[in-house]
Amino acid sequence: MRERVLVLGPPGAGKGTQCKLLAVARGLLHLSTGDLLRAEVAAETTLGQQVKAVLDRGDLVSDHLVLAIVRNRLALHRKGWLLDGFPRNSTQAATLDDLLADLGQPLQVALQLQVPQEELVARLLGRGRSDDSEAVVRKRLQIYVQQTEPINAHYQARGLLKCVDGLGSVQEVATRIANSLDECQRGEGTIC
Ligand code: AMP
Repeated sequence: MRERVLVLGPPGAGKGTQCKLLAVARGLLHLSTGDLLRAEVAAETTLGQQVKAVLDRGDLVSDHLVLAIVRNRLALHRKGWLLDGFPRNSTQAATLDDLLADLGQPLQVALQLQVPQEELVARLLGRGRSDDSEAVVRKRLQIYVQQTEPINAHYQARGLLKCVDGLGSVQEVATRIANSLDECQRGEGTIC
């Protein structure tokens, strides 16, 4: 099975946690742009220093840089994949369409993990990452609403969007996601 899946949802929805489990369970590549950017910061490269300043403010890194990262990884990869944290705005969504067409790797489903805002703030503040202070968390949620959430319509219009309730234990959410992906494999409709 070569599943090709976008995992969408606000910061704190559990995308990273769920993608790690799914990648193992279904033999998929987990491509998290946030993790790749943090690895760049940890390596203390010149690029990493520039990226760190952007991450610490809660802003988005440039489309150009993130696209280069994704393009390189997908081009080298022939199995199924999960994209986590990408695309983040309409430019990235349009470029991803072009990239996947070029690579002959059409998207199968965009899973939208749904979690209410108050729960997101509580989760993010409890996580303790360096970009998880209250002001930065609120900014990241605001950028999500303004720039990222609108791309759901792009996938919905193409019948690719599937919503999954992200509340509950990690295992409960993982079971819901697995059921949704199994439905897609059986060719059952995508719904939100
Ligand atoms: P995440 O781990 O997905 O929450 O991402 C952490 C931070 O990395 C974000 O707040 C952005 O600064 C940056 N980032 C991750 N993915 C992207 C992307 N697709 N485009 C721009 N910036 C990104």
